[in-house]
Amino acid sequence: MKSIRLHPGKERSLLKRHPWVFEGSIASGRADAGETVRVEASDGQFLAWGAYSPASLIRVRAWSFDSAERIDAAFFSRRILRALALRERLAIASDALRLVHGEADGLPGLIVDRYGDTLCAQFLAAGVERWKAVIADALLAATGCTRLYERSDASVRELEGLAPASGWLRKPASDGGATAITIREHDWRLTVDVAQGHKTGYYLDQRDNRLRFSELVRQFGCRRVFNGYSYTGGFSVAALAGGAEHVLSVDSSAPALARASEHVALNGFDASRHEALDADVNASLRRFIDEGATFDAIVLDPPKFAPTAAHAERAARAYKDINRLAFKLLAPGGLLFTFSCSGGVDASLFHKIVAGAGLDAGVDGHLLERLEAAPDHPTTVTFPEGEYLKGLAILKQ
Ligand code: SAH
Repeated sequence: MKSIRLHPGKERSLLKRHPWVFEGSIASGRADAGETVRVEASDGQFLAWGAYSPASLIRVRAWSFDSAERIDAAFFSRRILRALALRERLAIASDALRLVHGEADGLPGLIVDRYGDTLCAQFLAAGVERWKAVIADALLAATGCTRLYERSDASVRELEGLAPASGWLRKPASDGGATAITIREHDWRLTVDVAQGHKTGYYLDQRDNRLRFSELVRQFGCRRVFNGYSYTGGFSVAALAGGAEHVLSVDSSAPALARASEHVALNGFDASRHEALDADVNASLRRFIDEGATFDAIVLDPPKFAPTAAHAERAARAYKDINRLAFKLLAPGGLLFTFSCSGGVDASLFHKIVAGAGLDAGVDGHLLERLEAAPDHPTTVTFPEGEYLKGLAILKQ
């Protein structure tokens, strides 16, 4: 077993069970990509077992802080069963849910979503890449699913020195390999294509916020709804289910919008109540303001503007800009559901940005609710970096 020795003082974060060791903390030792290493303090004291990643700034990701634990196939089975047991207790209102959420489930770099009878996984770090076959078998054994699709095509893999990889990892020989799956979310039916969609196919983290949006659209009697960054129209279906007369889905992805329109029909809503607009959200907000239009509810769920804290300033301007425009475009008394999924912008900074946007727009609003990712995307108290999705529900005055 190879050892990685840290510089004096650099053991502190591992002692607090934070699972990352940065390159600059390491005094000596190296290993192959994904190889299990013993991480020790400058005096040789055991700190953690971890996976070495020679190309990444995050040079080691900890598997376990227990010196007696062996990192083998049984370890991965145990961690996966533990993650599934948590989901069992969470009573998720869907047959589509996140089963493994990386560091928060003790499996750094591994994302696994379940869509009906199909699993879709992302292997985003050298450690899980090396154990891929073992993890794939353990996932099938733990879930009883027979279909596992890989979507390891996220750009973060480059930081680990890993090439993109996607395709079926496991499926029965007799299975035709259809990648389109119909799921149920609350009372709605939605479709996901694990091969074509973004990430693993769908944004499961917004599940509960879509339901809440539907409820508030009904409560406040919102008639015209603008769903900015709509993707496949999850919030659009929610708005229609909440009684909205008309929803505009705005996204820059034509395939996502086509699916949004399909979702409107699939859930029994008349096509005349929905319009799909293939456009930039910022430009669309400006255009509607210029035209003197107003909306009773607006959703803003943009992609990650700030992947890390280093991008926070530029991202802050972009968030502020779209929120300022949304405040203007909202009718008085209108509902704003605004989100950031940037790890580099925390909840308090996001609140400040939105406050600044309201100030610039010359409007105030009541903060109804703070929103976060659905509970199958957990965070642990020792790993605050895991918290990424934050949102605010605001009622314009
Ligand atoms: N709210 C969605 C998820 C949104 S993901 C849901 O509930 O499923 C972010 C979306 O923003 C993606 O679909 C992406 O295509 C879109 N997007 C990215 N940049 C954009 C831009 N400048 N204008 C419009 N859409 C954009």
